Amino acid sequence: MSPNPFSLEGQCALVTGANVGLGQAIAVALAQAGADIASVSRRRADDTGQLVRAEGRRFHGVEADLGGGAKPEEIVAEAERALGRVDILVNNAGIIRRADAVDFTEEDWDAVIDVNLKAAFFLSQAAGKRMIARGRGKIINVASMLSFQGGVRVASYTASKSGMAGLTRLLANEWAAKGVNVNAIAPGYMTTDNTSALRADRKRNAEILGRIPAGRWGEPSDLGGAAVFLASRAADYVHGAILPVDGGWLAR
Ligand code: NAP
Repeated sequence: MSPNPFSLEGQCALVTGANVGLGQAIAVALAQAGADIASVSRRRADDTGQLVRAEGRRFHGVEADLGGGAKPEEIVAEAERALGRVDILVNNAGIIRRADAVDFTEEDWDAVIDVNLKAAFFLSQAAGKRMIARGRGKIINVASMLSFQGGVRVASYTASKSGMAGLTRLLANEWAAKGVNVNAIAPGYMTTDNTSALRADRKRNAEILGRIPAGRWGEPSDLGGAAVFLASRAADYVHGAILPVDGGWLAR
């Protein structure tokens, strides 16, 4: 075992939504720290595969629709067949739908809750069982500023991310004594496809930038350090924490 407590050498991480955006940046950071990577997304994750292999790590892409009947048990089993074990699970895949609360449809409610919350829980259950049997494992949920704040016009997203904060604490309570750490990262405003509409709206963009103490949008790579820390032995006594990586947004 490496004397470096932040090393992930010999570890295997399953990262959902690792083909683009924050998930890709997290996967690359974990690979740079030494982990092999399995990804789950609907579209292929060839770019991420290339980036991970360039770090000298193994990569396996699972194609599955987390909102449409994919079986979490089968996803974890496929990652295990490819890489041997899932030591680290990152529940990152997520979607957002926008409408006023009075007009919000059941379809937009269910779609977001299914991917952001239900899939994250049942993947945690499938991976967590195996981690408990081995007596160690790390689960990292990707939460949001809307795990702390209300937001507007994003009812199902706020419900899912606030729910994810609760789920992080519940799983930490149940699994901390079994050697499994469950924590979350709460990204602030980050430059990904998810936020391109906000950045294209000059007024909203200026309002958001004016409220971020760091004075800039976050880059996906800004999450790397937090992800490596929470996945590593350095975080063995960290349970149920929701770590903001937000340029100071919540401190404002
Ligand atoms: P993104 O660029 O839109 O990427 C979303 C990822 O989720 C993609 O990899 C996508 O895969 C995957 N995904 C979505 N629906 C899926 C489904 N049904 N089955 C399988 N995979 C699915 O978003 P992002 O900005 O990187 O966001 C990643 C996470 O961070 C999300 O949970 C988001 O809520 C959270 N977050 C983002 C920000 C931000 O400012 N960007 C801030 C706070 C929190 P496909 O391409 O195959 O659909």
